[in-house]
Amino acid sequence: MNTKETDRFIKIAKGPIETPVYLLDESLIETNMKILRHVKERTGCKVFHALKAYASFATFPMMSKYLDGVCASGLHEARLGREEFGKEVHTFSAAYRETEIKPILKYSDSIIFNSFYQFGRWGKTAKRSGVEIGLRVNPEHAEVTTEIYNPCAPYSRLGIVHSLFRQEFPQHRNMVNGLHFHAMCQQNADVLERILMSFERNYGKYIRGLKWVNFGGGHHITRDDYDIELLIRLINRFKTKYGVQVHLEPGEASVHNAGFLISTVLDIVKNKAEIAIMDTSAETHMPDVLLMPYRPHILGSGSKNEKKYRYRLAGPSCLAGDVIGDYSFDRPLKRGDKLVFTDMALYSIVKNTTFNGINLPDIAVLRAGGKVEVVRRFGYKDYRNRQS
Ligand SMILES: *Cc1c(COP(=O)(O)O)cnc(C)c1O
Repeated sequence: MNTKETDRFIKIAKGPIETPVYLLDESLIETNMKILRHVKERTGCKVFHALKAYASFATFPMMSKYLDGVCASGLHEARLGREEFGKEVHTFSAAYRETEIKPILKYSDSIIFNSFYQFGRWGKTAKRSGVEIGLRVNPEHAEVTTEIYNPCAPYSRLGIVHSLFRQEFPQHRNMVNGLHFHAMCQQNADVLERILMSFERNYGKYIRGLKWVNFGGGHHITRDDYDIELLIRLINRFKTKYGVQVHLEPGEASVHNAGFLISTVLDIVKNKAEIAIMDTSAETHMPDVLLMPYRPHILGSGSKNEKKYRYRLAGPSCLAGDVIGDYSFDRPLKRGDKLVFTDMALYSIVKNTTFNGINLPDIAVLRAGGKVEVVRRFGYKDYRNRQS
């Protein structure tokens, strides 16, 4: 982000905006959409936004102009995709519930099964409903080093393994429209290239005659150093070699670097270091900070010891480990100062909780014309409705 953009967001934060608030920048999301559309135009592939990463439908009318639809992880996402995004819906779940299969089929254009048992149980119903059928396979190659995000880790339940696939698939192939794999997380196209080598080695001979192959998500396409040309070559080569359509379902890439979380310093306490207690919490409002873990960037801040005034930032919850990270600033922090955390649109709003009864941040959209529109404000009822 350049200085001008940085100043713009710091200015918004200093203004009357109430905190904590997730601020979604519609123009920055649109910039990402244009990159994804470029990949579509150069390859003819389809791109579905993964609702799992980001489901703030206030920006869907803009996003749906660029993409082919969404991918959903189950009933509620499929329904949101159908009702709010309004284009194609492709649903994958590790296992489906009896009571949910009918509405899932109603809202989905394709359903992707994770086992031959699930396929046998629901496949015919799907066919009769006119819903395309996919099978998720384990490509048996991944380079995700954080084990909890690695779909190809030992004992992974995600995707049929090749040894089972080759026994079962031949007798069912005329029922199946596509194959699906998902094995990446925030990675570049060179990783996809190596996954494709393993995928094709195992599954290449089964692809001809299918309608599509879904390359999953985890493609960090909208990141500055992402090798878009390599992605385009890989897709085009694959389409020519096998005569199938290619689907991508990025989540993170759709809203990468396009959202902020603005938060106010409530207090500053001392215990060996200066500790700023914010009105936002890692545990409840940015859970990946603790899970991944990672340290989110704050506009105008430096690394732990880089600048003169140093603080540990932490949340108001009673979790001792509700620590966002160590930062430094050019000026001392004061109570009431507002800080802007970057890249907060993804895996945040969709994952947040009301642990400790902490209120959820507002959701606001910075529209293309420069107007900040608060689209959702939460309160006591939202907390109470999740208890009983
Ligand atoms: C998580 C997930 C995605 C989206 O992944 P990103 O890392 O957000 O791009 C797509 N497809 C499947 C099956 C997933 O589990």
